[in-house]
Amino acid sequence: MQKSVFRIFYLSIIHLSLLANIFAVDTSIGVLNIIDKNEDELSTINYKGEPYISVKDISRILSDRKPYENAARQKIVLYLSDNRVKISNLSSFIIVNDKIFQLTKHAVGKEEDIYVPAKSFFSILKNSIYPGADYDAGKKLLSLNLINFNINSVSIEQKSNGTILRIKTSQQFSDGDISSFINANGWFYLTVKDGLVDTSMIKKTDTKGVITKVISNQFDESAQLAFRIRTEIIGHEVYQSSDPNAIVVTLRTPFNKLSSHIKELKNRWRLDTIVLDAGHGGKDGGAVGKRGAKEKNIVLDITKRVGSLIEKNSHIKVVYTREEDIFVPLWRRTQIANATNGKLFVSIHVNSNPNRNVRGFETYLLRPGKTDDAIEVASRENSAIRMEEGKSRNKYSSMTGEKLIMATMAQSMFMKESEDLAAYIQDELDRLLDSPNRGLKQAGFYVLIGASMPNVLVEAGYISNPNEERKLKSSSYRQKIAKGIYAGIVSFRKSKEQIMSDN
Ligand SMILES: [Zn+2]
Repeated sequence: MQKSVFRIFYLSIIHLSLLANIFAVDTSIGVLNIIDKNEDELSTINYKGEPYISVKDISRILSDRKPYENAARQKIVLYLSDNRVKISNLSSFIIVNDKIFQLTKHAVGKEEDIYVPAKSFFSILKNSIYPGADYDAGKKLLSLNLINFNINSVSIEQKSNGTILRIKTSQQFSDGDISSFINANGWFYLTVKDGLVDTSMIKKTDTKGVITKVISNQFDESAQLAFRIRTEIIGHEVYQSSDPNAIVVTLRTPFNKLSSHIKELKNRWRLDTIVLDAGHGGKDGGAVGKRGAKEKNIVLDITKRVGSLIEKNSHIKVVYTREEDIFVPLWRRTQIANATNGKLFVSIHVNSNPNRNVRGFETYLLRPGKTDDAIEVASRENSAIRMEEGKSRNKYSSMTGEKLIMATMAQSMFMKESEDLAAYIQDELDRLLDSPNRGLKQAGFYVLIGASMPNVLVEAGYISNPNEERKLKSSSYRQKIAKGIYAGIVSFRKSKEQIMSDN
């Protein structure tokens, strides 16, 4: 104990006594700002045969804010592009914001300034604040490429049924500016218009799971990231999240060995129970037409008609999430579906739009919304949450965009089936209804989250369109819709049984 205290003291004395003599003749390091071709010079001192630079001089060149000085504690804080860089005399630790970096040699104080070894200090700056800083020790030249990159780094997460690529960005891009594809050689490409990619940071990506390589390219008007995938991808989704900004990509891979029991269950799949979910109910009336038709009543009637068609023509058991005009929380609906071992979940709604000319039918899948229209529909259908009691509302509070991605990932084993079911229902409705087919869509519907079975949400028509409202009020039209949904389910079942008998 005694000994180590003495040694520290002893070393300090050496430093103090040597400081005055050891500094050799001053030289300088050129600084070139690549963007505006501005040149400057950093004055240096030679300390123990190595160039050291003045931190105050660094601040003069890189910051328009004065450094903070604490003379008593021999500490200087630089403010470089909204970052705090803390340097202390005789310490080799530099603190950038709250992160600690270490210099190869400690800093030395001289004439109310602190000097740091140039090479290792520039390397810390490059790894923290200025990825575009490159120091050439031979030429004694620091090139600064102070581009504000908007695509900053990539992190990879491996899940049992896929991989999530999280591309950190410093802004939101419009969805139309992001494009992606997987080529035949197993590369996934993501191109971002107006993207400025920090290629040096992308190079440092920690590859894992199915990703074996990540490459980035800067083009004139776009940036491209390429990911080498070592396995088959059965689908992918690209989505932007905010707070923090990121482009999130989910790559769905075939089930691994861990989920082989699920595969087995799927092979033994038999459509024995269908869960039918009539939207809204009770205090939640859903959409209302100009002539007073209420969504909750129309969809309950259609749902019951689908149910009786199934019961009349098959041995499939039908489970309703509601059979009367009662309020059922959204989370409770999938809970019923899971608890009753449902093999399909079909939620039935009618739509509404401020534009009363909009009409037609569409079927939705649970996935992050792609279009404003789809997001709008989901947010209206999700609004029932506001009518739920306090405690049950908490079940949704954390369901942010990020959580939605995880929820859709969790459903990825049913994704293909859900898509098929939706397509069959659309086809059959198209055959039976003389109303526009608005196609297959996707958005984040809470009522579908957590369903452990293929699931879709049918919007059978627009109650806001006077013509469709009139039709929806007629029982023969509701029977047609029910027939369409029923026929879609039958076609889906046939296609599944076909596949299974082929195996
Ligand atoms: Zn609805």
